[in-house]
Amino acid sequence: MGKKVIVIGEIRNGDVRGVSFEAVSAGVDVANGGEVVAVVLGEDVNSLAEPFISYGADRVIAVNHPELKLYTTDAYQQALLQVIDEEKPDAILMGHTSIGKDLSPRLAMKLGLGLISDAVAVEVMGEEVLFTRPIYSGKAFEKEKHVGGSVFATIRPNNIEAKERDEARTGAVKTIEVVLKDLRTVIKEVVQKATAGVDLSEANVIVAGGRGVKNKDGFRPLQELADHLGGAVGASRGACDADYCDYALQIGQTGKVVTPDLYFAVGISGAIQHLAGMSNAKTIVAINKDPDAPIFEVADYGIVGDLFEIVPLLLGELKKV
Ligand code: FAD
Repeated sequence: MGKKVIVIGEIRNGDVRGVSFEAVSAGVDVANGGEVVAVVLGEDVNSLAEPFISYGADRVIAVNHPELKLYTTDAYQQALLQVIDEEKPDAILMGHTSIGKDLSPRLAMKLGLGLISDAVAVEVMGEEVLFTRPIYSGKAFEKEKHVGGSVFATIRPNNIEAKERDEARTGAVKTIEVVLKDLRTVIKEVVQKATAGVDLSEANVIVAGGRGVKNKDGFRPLQELADHLGGAVGASRGACDADYCDYALQIGQTGKVVTPDLYFAVGISGAIQHLAGMSNAKTIVAINKDPDAPIFEVADYGIVGDLFEIVPLLLGELKKV
């Protein structure tokens, strides 16, 4: 029998984040012929409903409220509990993003549901749903079988492919009012760091630099390579600690977990804490002058040499293609 699946959409800078469409894709599989309902929250988000339909949702609930313009745990939790109470879904999915990580355990606890976090694959076998998730910092994968009752899961960005967009799909968009009471947190102003380019956690190509880049300027060739490939720049904690770049770029156990199609580890030794954030990248290219650097153990392609020679050479060759 088909299930009713709610997918909680996420908006950033006025756009739906790609992982929300990946969650819709997982939702279509979990629904197994049932209904996928996307929920989008914000101050005035009706115009963002349509893409959810074209990516596979059957229906969209737009929740508009001035206090939902910017994410706060309190307001989003209250709003979503009202929607979920009305819809009574069999499954709830959302992205395993900073917001997903903050919101999902709280909602799951309030709803009395189990939470499967950071799923990288979803398989449906009749009534059962099998979620695959990395454990031990990505060194192993476990499969969690969901057999009955409702389930809540978060989906790691860049792992489950979004369905092909079909502009011809149609579906109802309903706007609902929610009551938000006694909010303990109100965001008055957002002061954003000037970061350019592609979002690291959703980038398909990442060029990450480590302590080997030597200084802030050492990141320049990496940025050029990333720009040429339409990717983002990342970093090891070594590089962040040395103040070569901002901590927002840190990848690893205490930084961002990324799964791009292509990951360049440039002047990064490959400490276990760094691998925890990137070892599931589809293709890893390591550039390091030390042939014994542990990064080569996880790399698909290894280049032993000075990064200051190799990166410009590589960029020059790529520009010829
Ligand atoms: P190094 O280990 O110093 O490596 C630099 C590399 O650059 C070397 O392999 C060297 O051969 C190479 N190199 C130097 N010059 C050149 C050149 N000209 N050309 C080519 N190669 C060159 N680290 C993270 O990255 N992310 C985390 O989230 C993280 N979390 C941590 C959490 C905890 C609790 C702890 C204890 C540590 C954590 N670390 C994390 C730190 C981690 O252990 C390493 O110290 C760090 O990853 C090292 O950074 P690095 O590889 O840039 O530097």
